[in-house]
Amino acid sequence: MTPAGRFAPSPSGELHVGNLRTAMLAWLFARSTGRDFLLRVEDLDRARAGAEAEQLRDLEAVGLTWDGAVVRQTDRGAVYAEAIGRLAAAGLTYECFCTRREIQEAPSAPHAPQGAYPGTCRNLDPAELEFKRSTRPAAIRLRAEVAEYTVRDVLHGDFTGVVDDFVLRRNDGVTAYNLAVVVDDAAQGVDQVVRGDDLLPSTPRQAYLAGLLNIPVPEYAHVPLVVNSDGARLAKRDGAVTLTDLARTGVSAADVRNLILQSLGLPAGTLENALAEFRPADLPREPWVWTGPSAARERTLAAPPA
Ligand SMILES: [Zn+2]
Repeated sequence: MTPAGRFAPSPSGELHVGNLRTAMLAWLFARSTGRDFLLRVEDLDRARAGAEAEQLRDLEAVGLTWDGAVVRQTDRGAVYAEAIGRLAAAGLTYECFCTRREIQEAPSAPHAPQGAYPGTCRNLDPAELEFKRSTRPAAIRLRAEVAEYTVRDVLHGDFTGVVDDFVLRRNDGVTAYNLAVVVDDAAQGVDQVVRGDDLLPSTPRQAYLAGLLNIPVPEYAHVPLVVNSDGARLAKRDGAVTLTDLARTGVSAADVRNLILQSLGLPAGTLENALAEFRPADLPREPWVWTGPSAARERTLAAPPA
C-alpha cells in the first residue's frame, strides 16, 4: 500500500475557507513527501444529503487532486465491528449505560482530568449489568489502562493528553469517531494525518487505541485554524465563507486558493507551483484571521495576477 495523507470532511454542509485551507495543507504535506492523497467522507454522523458532492466540487475548484476512490464511513460498519470485537475479546471493552447527564453529575475520581469518563460502569457486577441491560441500550467503552498518552506532532512537538475510557460505539449503534478514524487510516495506508489543531486533544486517545489494535501510529501535523475577527473558529454564521457565497461577492475559487496560499507564506498560483516552496517548518503557527470578502477582494487586487 502506498503511504498516504488524507482529508476527511464530515458532509454536514459546504466547506468554508477554514476547511479548504486545512485540505490544501493536507495536500501540500502529502504531495511534498511523495505520498498519495486520499479523501474520506466521515458520514457516520451529521451527514446532509448533497453535501458530499458540493464538498468534492469545492475541493476540485481550489485545485485539489486525489488518488483512488472516495471512501465513505457508512460503508465500513463491518470493519469497525471487527475491530471492536478484537478489543472485546482482549477484555478491553465494557458496556456503559450512563446518560450524558449522569456522567456530568457523577463525582469524578481523585485527580481525574476534567471531562474524563468517571468509570461508573467499569466494574458492574453481573446482577447490576443484567438490570441495566433491561433499562437501556449500552454504549461500548474502551477499558483504558493509562490515564494519558504522548504523541509527537510535526508542528507541536510532543503533546501529552488525556486517555479515558472513551466511547467506541454509541448506544444508538453508531461507531464513535475515535475508533473509526484509527481503523480507517490504517486500512487506507494513511501514515500522515494533517488536520485542524482543534483535534489535537483527542489525538492521544487515537494513538493509544492504534497501539491496542497493533496499528502503526501515523505522523501527525495539527495545523492552525482559521478564525473570525473575534478570534473564534470560523463558522457558517460568519457571513460569506463558502465558495458559493464568496463567488456572489466577486471572490472566485482561484482568488480563495491564492489568499489561502498567501496566508501560508506561499506564492499565489497553482498548488503544484506552491509545492516547490512548501516547508512545514516555515508555516505560520498562529490562526489565520478571516476578515470577510471585501478585505479578501482588496488583497486579491493587491496581489500580482497568477
Ligand atoms: Zn457508564
